[in-house]
Amino acid sequence: MAQTKDKKENLMEKIVSLCKRRGFIFPGSEIYGGLSGTWDYGPVGALFKKNIKDLWWRDTVQLRDDVVGVDAAIMMNPKAWEASGHTEAFSDPLVECKICHERFRADKEMEIKNHEKTHNKTIEWTKSKKFNLLVKAYLGVLEGEESQIYLRGEITNGVSVNFKNIINSTRVKIPFGVAQIGKAFRNEITPGNFTFRSREFEQMEVQFYIKPEEKEGKKWFDYWKKNRMDWYLSLGIKKENLRFRDHALNERAHYARMATDIEYKSPWGWQEFMGIHHRGDWDLKRHQQFSGEDMSFSDPQTGEKYLLWDIETSAGVDRSILFLLIDAYREEGGRVYLKLHPALSPYKAAVFPLLANKPELVKLARKIYDDLRPQFMTAWDDRGNIGKRYYSQDELGTPFCVTVDFDSLEDKKVTVRDRDTMKQERISILKLAEYLKNKLNEDENKILKL
Ligand code: ATP
Repeated sequence: MAQTKDKKENLMEKIVSLCKRRGFIFPGSEIYGGLSGTWDYGPVGALFKKNIKDLWWRDTVQLRDDVVGVDAAIMMNPKAWEASGHTEAFSDPLVECKICHERFRADKEMEIKNHEKTHNKTIEWTKSKKFNLLVKAYLGVLEGEESQIYLRGEITNGVSVNFKNIINSTRVKIPFGVAQIGKAFRNEITPGNFTFRSREFEQMEVQFYIKPEEKEGKKWFDYWKKNRMDWYLSLGIKKENLRFRDHALNERAHYARMATDIEYKSPWGWQEFMGIHHRGDWDLKRHQQFSGEDMSFSDPQTGEKYLLWDIETSAGVDRSILFLLIDAYREEGGRVYLKLHPALSPYKAAVFPLLANKPELVKLARKIYDDLRPQFMTAWDDRGNIGKRYYSQDELGTPFCVTVDFDSLEDKKVTVRDRDTMKQERISILKLAEYLKNKLNEDENKILKL
C-alpha cells in the first residue's frame, strides 16, 4: 500500500519536473519567489493548450448547428455578480488551525487529516466560516467602494448578460447553446496539486438553453453528460480513469438544480475534472430582476414568452491539460514518453540532421523542415546525438521524428521513427508530408471520429 502511495507521489513529481524541464508549465513569477496558485505555460505548454482549446471549439461550435460562440470581457459591472448570487453565495467553508494559523477548506477531509499529521497532536480548529472566492480589483483613478470590481469567478456570467444580444443578433432556435473559453479567477483557500487548483485558470463552457420543462431538462442533462464523457474518451483518456459522480443536494452550487461531475482517477484520488449543471432559469431570472431587462425568449411557433433553462457543461482547460499529461505519461523499457493523441501533441513531427557539423545534411534537413512547417507544428533539433533528440521528443509527445542521414543524400529518403512503437521506416522525401499527414489523420480518424 505504502509503496503504491510513494509511486503515485513520485509520478506527480516526475510530471511537474518534466513540465518545467521541457517547457510545458512553469511556476508563476518564479524569479520573485512565485505567486501561489498561478502558473505560466511555456513554449510547449502554450502549443498544447491551444490544441486542446481548438479541439474543444471544433467539437462544440464548428461541428454543430446549434451552438454559437462568444468571448466576453473578464471585468464586468459588479452588479452582474450580485445578480448571479456570487457576492453572497460563491464561497467555500474555511477553518483555521489554532496552532499555526494555516487555513484550509473544511470540506477537504484529506487535507485536514494531512495537516493534523504535521503537528503530531490533536489540533483545535476555528469554527467553519464562509469565505468568498471572488477576487477583488479596483478600476479607475480612485480606490474604494466606487471603483471596486471583481475578476470573474466563472465565465458563465458573460454569456448570461449577453443573452438578449445573442438571440437578437443570430438566428438561434431552441434548443441552442452558447460556447465560451476564457480565464476565471478564484481566491482559492488552498491552491495545490500543481495546476489542479489554481487561483487563475481557464474554463471551456457551453450554456445550452432549452424549453423550461422537466422532461427536456432531464433529456438534455443526460445528453450533455454522455457528450462530454465521449469527448474525453475520444482524446484517448483511459476509460477506467473516468467516472460520473452526482452531487448530493447539500454540495450543489447555489444555482444548480442538478449537478454531476466527470471525475478523473488522479494520483491523489478521484477528482473533479469538469461539471455538468442544470442551472434552470437561475441566471436569466436574476439578471432580469437586477437589470430590469426582459430576458425572456419568444417562441416563434406558439408566440409564448418564457425564460429558458440552462444546461451547462463547464470544464477547466488547465485540469484537462494536467489529467491528459498524467494519463499519457509512460515509462517503458527505460524510456519516458507521452502517449498523447497526435491532435494534442505540441509538435506533430521533429526533423534532425544526423550530424550538425555536416552542412550538406543540415541543408537538406532544413529544407524538409521548411516544407513541413506550413502544414503542421514541426520541431527542429540538431543538438547532441540522435538518442538524446529522441529522448527529448518522446518527453514532448512528438509522434514522429524524421532523420536525414548520409544515405538520404543518395536515395532521397529519410528515416521516420514512430514515438509509440519506436519502429523506423525509410520514406521518400517527396512523399514525406503526405505520409505524415496520412499517419496523423489515421490516428485522428480512429479516435476523433472525424
Ligand atoms: P472544485 O470543487 O474542485 O473547487 P468547483 O466545483 O468549484 O471545483 P466549478 O465551479 O464547477 O468547479 O468549475 C467548473 C470547472 O472549472 C471545474 O470542473 C474545473 O475543471 C475548473 N476549475 C474550477 N476551479 C478551478 C481551479 N481553482 N483551478 C483550476 N480549475 C478549476
